[in-house]
Amino acid sequence: MRKLIIAIDGPAAAGKSSAAKNLAKRLGYLYLDSGALYRAIAWKLLQEGINPESQAEVEAAAQSIEIELRLKGEQTEIWVQQVEATPSLRQPEVTRTSSIISTYPGVRKKLLSIQRSIGSGGGVVMEGRDIGTVVFPEADVKFYLDATTPVRGLRRHKEMELKGIPSDLEKTTREIEERDLKDRQRHVAPLKKSEDAIVIDSTPLNLEEVILCMLQEVEKKLAAKQGGTGHIKKLK
Ligand code: C5P
Repeated sequence: MRKLIIAIDGPAAAGKSSAAKNLAKRLGYLYLDSGALYRAIAWKLLQEGINPESQAEVEAAAQSIEIELRLKGEQTEIWVQQVEATPSLRQPEVTRTSSIISTYPGVRKKLLSIQRSIGSGGGVVMEGRDIGTVVFPEADVKFYLDATTPVRGLRRHKEMELKGIPSDLEKTTREIEERDLKDRQRHVAPLKKSEDAIVIDSTPLNLEEVILCMLQEVEKKLAAKQGGTGHIKKLK
């Protein structure tokens, strides 16, 4: 049986990456953080000194940026033009820039084909903002993961501190709100819940609870495809 395409969308810091990574591991699927691709382009543009506000320049430059995903055990490294960019991708400047350049159709078009070429064979858990709506509208299971803004702000703040990136809680919360607004309001592939997505509000849940919830839905889908009972025990 063909392996599933699982899409996870939602606003910033809703827990998409941790959930997607864990779900992929339990299913033996590939995990792709599509935000890292936008960040990779942003990182390279900053290195080249290109003004992110200049749409024409950004779109032209993005076409020749070569992005490569290298699997190292359970980690996926992002290489840009033969240089590993992964450690720099969470820097605040890269975050801000990725939010600006993701509004440009030329950038999205380039990354769309990369995402489709990685996931179209199935066996993938892909997370982002437009996976269930644009990248894989035919995904087998779609989740929309959300949480209240204060909870998301706190999660991102703690995450940054753990990574040794200085963070101020208020500023971090404001920053994710601004990014969400930009993602929701852009004309191309805005952040929105796909009509057939399963909504999970992770506000009161821990990671394990979110994953169990997702596994149950995946199991239902697998059972329906096989026309028999599921195998949730095996998945856990
Ligand atoms: O998910 P992450 O926060 O790493 O994404 C960085 C930025 O990339 C987001 O703020 C968003 O603007 C953009 N993005 C997007 N579509 C995706 C994934 C990320 O526009 N599928």
